[in-house]
Amino acid sequence: MLDLTTSNVMERTALRVNPCKTCQPVGAMYAALGVANCMPHSHGSQGCCSYHRTVLSRHFKEPAVASSSSFTEGASVFGGRSNINTAVKNVFDMYDPDIIAVHTTCLSETIGDDLTSYIMDMDLPEGKTVVHCNTPSYVGSHINGFFNMMMGFMNYLTKKTGTPNGKAAIFPGWVNPGDIRELKRIATLMGVPYVMFPDQSGVLDAPMTGKYEYFTGGGTTLPEIASLGDTEQLIALGEITSGEPAELLQKKWKVPHTLLPMPVGIAYTDAYVMALQKFSKKEVPEELEEQRGQLVDLLLDSHPYTHGKKAAIFGDPDVVIGLTSLCLELGIVPKYVITGTPKDEFTRRVNALLEKYNVEGCTVKANADLFELHQWIKNEPVELLIGSTYGKQIAKAEDIPFIRAGFPVLDRYAGPLMPVVGYAGAIRMVEKICDALMDRQDRDAADEDLEIVM
Ligand code: SF4
Repeated sequence: MLDLTTSNVMERTALRVNPCKTCQPVGAMYAALGVANCMPHSHGSQGCCSYHRTVLSRHFKEPAVASSSSFTEGASVFGGRSNINTAVKNVFDMYDPDIIAVHTTCLSETIGDDLTSYIMDMDLPEGKTVVHCNTPSYVGSHINGFFNMMMGFMNYLTKKTGTPNGKAAIFPGWVNPGDIRELKRIATLMGVPYVMFPDQSGVLDAPMTGKYEYFTGGGTTLPEIASLGDTEQLIALGEITSGEPAELLQKKWKVPHTLLPMPVGIAYTDAYVMALQKFSKKEVPEELEEQRGQLVDLLLDSHPYTHGKKAAIFGDPDVVIGLTSLCLELGIVPKYVITGTPKDEFTRRVNALLEKYNVEGCTVKANADLFELHQWIKNEPVELLIGSTYGKQIAKAEDIPFIRAGFPVLDRYAGPLMPVVGYAGAIRMVEKICDALMDRQDRDAADEDLEIVM
């Protein structure tokens, strides 16, 4: 399909071909789905909302509930106030959520709809809440939408009573529900009482019960979000996704934060465990020590198959930084590391990581696209490709072993249930990486060289 991609790289600034990101409201919708009894609401046309729901549903293989202001030509000209008033009334009447989380779209941003005043003027039913954030999709990416929605909730709902609640806040960043379960498991093992925000576990990985419910009971509750101002410490994971929300909590309610990389691989998981340990002052339990030891053993055993292999890694900034760190721990040489999210901080952090491992000759770029990555690969090939489903045509065209990781993975099942983070997640990723490399070795081996024991 992409066999005809040329190797002649041309500098582009405006045009993106095969983008490595999606639009802001997708992130806002995903963040809102991590809040209990919350209806994400798209203030724009139905087409935007359908697209955002589709992307999420295809990745999680679960319905992503959301409502829309259903703009038509009239709203585009006269503004969307009447649309959102009708929508909010209908959503509370028909679906009965506790809260509606409104995000804007390109259209409502372009016409300048003032959501703050619209919401202020609403006559809401007793005990119901509406919050909003701005998500103009012509800047940033779904990652910006995700943290903008987090900050929307925090701006409307957080409080400080003056009595610390003895808990740590944990911002997981953009991860799958399986990752959130693993982060919670580690925090519980470390004896840390916490508020996880947002929390899509139990929502987008909810079990089949035979009965469809709009709200599954999972997600961060509204009192938990309100209590963020009373938490004693914030552990914010994913420097690029959670950095701005962490700053907001510090500025608003003076909650000190520790900003860490997404805990992928040994070093970054250690940092998460140590931050929890600093909070609880408890010893690291045997269960975690043992799992870490298994991972070290696995890295040593698999080293002959991974050492020196060249890889291209792409996707969302924090998961890419984490996977780059894991690859370096495996002795894999990152050759191209890109994200579609336009954040210069990404290149700074990846370059610092590469410097630590004395890796040279790696191309690192934010605001990049997959067409560009493909052209680089045509000029200097790699032996492994790691990223979202959108890399599969490149993998096919160039015959490269391909590991699906990050968002979105549209063509495989069970990924959202499984962790990438923590020692357990690293063990899983090492297995995937080794399987891909060793399958390729087997495929290409002459009959007399095909090993049974490796
Ligand atoms: S119009 Fe904007 S908000 Fe709507 S789907 Fe397109 S990029 Fe996203």
